[in-house]
Amino acid sequence: FVSILVIACPCALGLATPTAIIVGVGKGAKNGILIKDAATLEHLYKVDSIIVDKTGTITVGKPSVVNIESEIKEDELISILSSLENKSEHPIAKAITSYASLKRLETMPVSNFEIIKGMGLKGVIDNKIYYAGNITLVKQNNLSFDVSKIEKYTKEGKTPIVLMTEKEVLGFVMVSDELKEGAKESIEKLHRMGIKVIMATGDDKRTADYIASLVGIDQVVAEVLPADKLSIVKKLQADKHIVAMVGDGVNDAPALAQSNVGIAMGTGTDVAIESAGITLLHGDIRKVVKAVSLSKITMTGIKQNLFWAFIYNIIGIPLASGLLYPIFGLLLNPIFAGLAMAMSSVSVVSNSLRI
Ligand code: ADP
Ligand code: MG
Repeated sequence: FVSILVIACPCALGLATPTAIIVGVGKGAKNGILIKDAATLEHLYKVDSIIVDKTGTITVGKPSVVNIESEIKEDELISILSSLENKSEHPIAKAITSYASLKRLETMPVSNFEIIKGMGLKGVIDNKIYYAGNITLVKQNNLSFDVSKIEKYTKEGKTPIVLMTEKEVLGFVMVSDELKEGAKESIEKLHRMGIKVIMATGDDKRTADYIASLVGIDQVVAEVLPADKLSIVKKLQADKHIVAMVGDGVNDAPALAQSNVGIAMGTGTDVAIESAGITLLHGDIRKVVKAVSLSKITMTGIKQNLFWAFIYNIIGIPLASGLLYPIFGLLLNPIFAGLAMAMSSVSVVSNSLRI
């Protein structure tokens, strides 16, 4: 009876999951993968679809101005654009404002400034309303614009910013961003793990297609609004997929919160980091692969721990209750029961430390 009591004590069972999780989360932190809650680590290994944002996730998110085509004086175009962009925090805005300050162009006061979600922005300068943004914004304003003018640039992965009034297009600027180091190999590794990778971006369709082709993503959803990113996640979930979202922007936050595992770039916006379960330091895309592996290893560790937590009990309890007594005269001495009990905790903890 004493032997049964001692060996049945389930303390290793209580240690099995938490010790593995603590080691997993700690290992993650050492590798620049900050995990907010344990549940995230438990879901990540089941993920079969990953949605990635483009700007700031696949690309560095520090674009620079590479082409300008203008109907008005070029300096005037840049000056108006940078005055508007001065009020925005978007990576595109930084590209334009720093180009303007390089050219020592002055900014003008802007009133009635408004962000047009997923498209651009608007503001009033000298009593005139200006809009700056993508082709969708041009279309929304019903302005005539020869799209072929920008297509030769978007084909090369550059992003257009069109400046317009309510009546006409004044010109456009193209900005170009670099791929992140390791983006291509990370996507390859995810594919090899059998995970579907989809790129969702608010950027131009051609620009997105080009960037996607560089890193080997075959599924692209472009020109989306923040709400669309959210519905892509919801749709995949409705089809019984376990979805992770990787992003950095304000526009990614709803999707990050909805996905089974939200992964934010540490270089991204506070809202994105707040909405995600995992944050990757330095915005390193390669760490997505590491995080998935870490989750797999941790979950294997938990399963092994559960084995070690039960195996002593499974063998010990029947022994202690005298299963072998009638034939072999064997009983379990309480001393050995105590030893087995301790060994089961030791096995669990040492196994966790192997992660
Ligand atoms: P993403 O980060 O995926 O590009 P956003 O929703 O932030 O998505 O932006 C979508 C698109 O709207 C951009 O690609 C750009 O064309 C346009 N846009 C957004 N913000 C600005 C801005 N401040 N100035 C000009 N265009 C902008
Ligand atoms: Mg982004």
